Amino acid sequence: MKRKFLSCIVKRKIWSNKYTLVYLSVFLSLLYSSPLLAKPSINVTFTPKKIKQGDILFITVKANPGIYKISGSLFDKPVHFYTDSKRGSYVALIGIDMETEPNLYILSIFLEDESGREMKKDYKIRVKSAKFGIQRLTLPKEKVELDEETLKRVNLEQEKIGKVWDIFTEENLWDGNFIRPIEGKFSGSFGLRRIINDEPKNPHTGIDIDAPEGAPVYAPNHGRVVFADEHFFSGKSLVIDHGMGLFTMYFHLSEILVATGDSVKKGQIMAKVGKSGRATGPHLHWGMRLNGARVNPASLINLPLE
Ligand SMILES: [Zn+2]
Repeated sequence: MKRKFLSCIVKRKIWSNKYTLVYLSVFLSLLYSSPLLAKPSINVTFTPKKIKQGDILFITVKANPGIYKISGSLFDKPVHFYTDSKRGSYVALIGIDMETEPNLYILSIFLEDESGREMKKDYKIRVKSAKFGIQRLTLPKEKVELDEETLKRVNLEQEKIGKVWDIFTEENLWDGNFIRPIEGKFSGSFGLRRIINDEPKNPHTGIDIDAPEGAPVYAPNHGRVVFADEHFFSGKSLVIDHGMGLFTMYFHLSEILVATGDSVKKGQIMAKVGKSGRATGPHLHWGMRLNGARVNPASLINLPLE
């Protein structure tokens, strides 16, 4: 306590010395006006402030005008920035995979200015547990176990959809905020881990939205169709590439109204709700991938992209 008090006095003495302040301000103004010493400076904001498994981390970087190159890395993966001319800043969306170990991670941002000078800044990112929940089910064996032929089909289909995530479109195709693909209540089942007959299954990687058969499914933003096919589990399935590693998925459809390679516009009707594949009733399974991370698509709706 005493020591703290003393150091306080010492500090106050130094700072109250007006000559020290004058010297300091002269030194600082010289430092910043010198082209040799002026360092790139940035102002970084993170949304949301508290991040958990399955979230999107939205980053904006305001840099001094000299900066011309910006990149980043988190979880040993590149972070892709794009220029937001309305904000006058660089923006990046990072997917926090639903199974990311809750821990402290380092996000590195690399900057380069016109004269080739480089700067690296590190930021601590704490990922919290999302507590997705567990559902235990007991089902008849024949409903759970797949015969050899079906298993072969499922493996092949997994391989096929796996190739979609290798696509990387280097520009953001979206414009402004994302909209809901369908009317209806979002279920809280994202990340739910099912244990069927005591055997743990893959976690639920999307949200289910109850809707009547035939209800229209709208494109939540501009993009390109990269997958339109019928699979054993997901039924009639559609995947839209929105650019910069961001994909949205639509499963159990009754009808697909677009084809692979088509461009879609925000609000365009792309498909109709159904119960194809393994579904107990008509609903839309809405999923999302962001640079490979399985993310809750509901977090897209809240992104401040306007
Ligand atoms: Zn689902």
